[in-house]
Amino acid sequence: MIFGKKHKTDADSWQIVGRVFKENFSDYKGQYVLAVLLLVTVAATTALPAYLMRDVVNEVFVSQKLESAYVIAAIIFLAFSARGFATYGYMYTLGKIGNNIVARYQRLVFEHLLRLGVGYHKDNRSALVISKIQQNITGVMSMMSQVITVFAKDLLTLIALVAVMVVQDPYMSTITVAILPVLAFVMSRYVRRMKRLAKEQVNLSARVTSSIIESSQGMEILKSFTMEDEMTSRVHSLTEKAEQQNNRISRLNAKTKPPTEILAGFAIGGVIAFGGYRVIELQHDMGALMSFLTAAMLAYEPARKLASFRVAFEQSVTNARMMFEVLDTPPRQADLKSAKDITVSKGRIELHDVGFSYVKGEKVLDGLSLTAASGKTTALVGPSGGGKSTIISLIQRFYDLNKGKITVDGVDIRKVKIASLRKSIAYVSQQPILFEGSIIENIRLGRPDASDEDIFEAAELAQAHDFILAQPRGYQTPVGEMGANLSGGQRQRLSIARAFLRDAPILLLDEATSALDNESERLVQTALETLVKGRTTIVVAHRLSTIRNADMIYVIENGQVVEKGKHATLVKKRTGTYAKLNEIAVAPMQKEPTQ
Ligand code: ADP
Repeated sequence: MIFGKKHKTDADSWQIVGRVFKENFSDYKGQYVLAVLLLVTVAATTALPAYLMRDVVNEVFVSQKLESAYVIAAIIFLAFSARGFATYGYMYTLGKIGNNIVARYQRLVFEHLLRLGVGYHKDNRSALVISKIQQNITGVMSMMSQVITVFAKDLLTLIALVAVMVVQDPYMSTITVAILPVLAFVMSRYVRRMKRLAKEQVNLSARVTSSIIESSQGMEILKSFTMEDEMTSRVHSLTEKAEQQNNRISRLNAKTKPPTEILAGFAIGGVIAFGGYRVIELQHDMGALMSFLTAAMLAYEPARKLASFRVAFEQSVTNARMMFEVLDTPPRQADLKSAKDITVSKGRIELHDVGFSYVKGEKVLDGLSLTAASGKTTALVGPSGGGKSTIISLIQRFYDLNKGKITVDGVDIRKVKIASLRKSIAYVSQQPILFEGSIIENIRLGRPDASDEDIFEAAELAQAHDFILAQPRGYQTPVGEMGANLSGGQRQRLSIARAFLRDAPILLLDEATSALDNESERLVQTALETLVKGRTTIVVAHRLSTIRNADMIYVIENGQVVEKGKHATLVKKRTGTYAKLNEIAVAPMQKEPTQ
């Protein structure tokens, strides 16, 4: 299941509605009151013409009073006009409240997704999370408008019309209204099926959307592996399934119609037959029957909506429930109550006997200890999968440890405020990540309050200034999606500029694995050499050539430190892992012709 644990999935639907009201009601009190008043007006103005039918028949048709016809005509005109304006008012008010609820939950969910941390996003595919959220938030709006219109408008209208019916003919009213529970019982059969279908439908349509998003993101790989046919057939089969599911939902919604129509026909027909009999045989009031019949016919629509409400309602409650599952997922790394800000001065980092696993039982780090001395460069090397990138993540507290501790300047990072820890760190990832916006905006993310001059300086230090100026709009050039219109080296230098701007005492570098051309490589190296100066740097080295000058090298294998020392010392240990790695690394280089 994509959203992890079953948080409150079985919570009663009404609790969900109650929660949305509770979370929003206080802000819209005035508007809700206005909407309800307008809805009362709608209900009253719907019932009034039905009530007047008695006089239409008795006064106008039977007693032939023309004045009464004029008066009733005027009242009916006014009632319809008032209903028009009241409808306008309540639709606009409820629309506004609904839109605001959507915007508010979008903000809340976004903020929560940020809090949920790296682990959550690694476990859940982002495109899928996003497309679900989009559907679910819209569902919340429709849930609220369903509840309000059905209960305020339809229920009130029904009550007003039933009141007319009771006034005109209490005996027949009792018989007619008795049909409502029968209708509700018939509908309840469909409610449970809708619950299940709606959830599957959200999952399926989210999978369709996310496949499309992911294909667009991975277009290069998709094309290069000529996966078009495969992806097309996958999306086809998903859309087919989603279509079938939607058809089931449409059928279920439509299935509510025959029983309602049949019961309504029975009721109205019964009223005509029984009412007609009473008027003809028992000399009952003709006007009262006409008024009753009109009210009963008008009551049919709100009664039908009320009866089938639960079925459609379950569909949107499912959306709301899924949204709250995300909002209720607790962040995995939270500040302790006693957490204080950390002020990093020296930036000495120590890992003491650290044990960690992503998945229970699969040890990734196993009693690992290392020290990154203040202001020095510490390199981590070793075979892929050994745990080097994991160490970088743990220092930033993206995950919590199973065993041991990590300290910065002697302070356990579990006891400090996460934000203050991360503010002391600049992280340059293997894949430079750029966000939507211009080049200057992307660099500014390193320190939002930086001046333009600071940014130009950082870009210069990162060897990026010249290429930025050569872009069509210089610093204002928008970066394409994930920096698509920049080369790998340029993207890296932008992320290095961001790190310069951050000017943090600790620098974490996950060296890029993809080979750059010589010129780019040289520029990136120059930028990094300047960046590491005076900072406590931990670099995950994928190529040994870049770390010969590191102050300390740790060789990590299977989650443990297997060797440590400087380059010169480590290469001398002929049988050691580092020496072997070094041999592999230099061998092809030596074969290259010297320039
Ligand atoms: P290195 O950086 O040395 O190549 P990593 O730290 O990336 O190694 O990975 C160490 C181990 O942890 C590998 O076996 C990898 O498959 C596993 N791993 C890495 N990230 C995750 C994750 N998010 N979930 C589960 N396992 C992971």
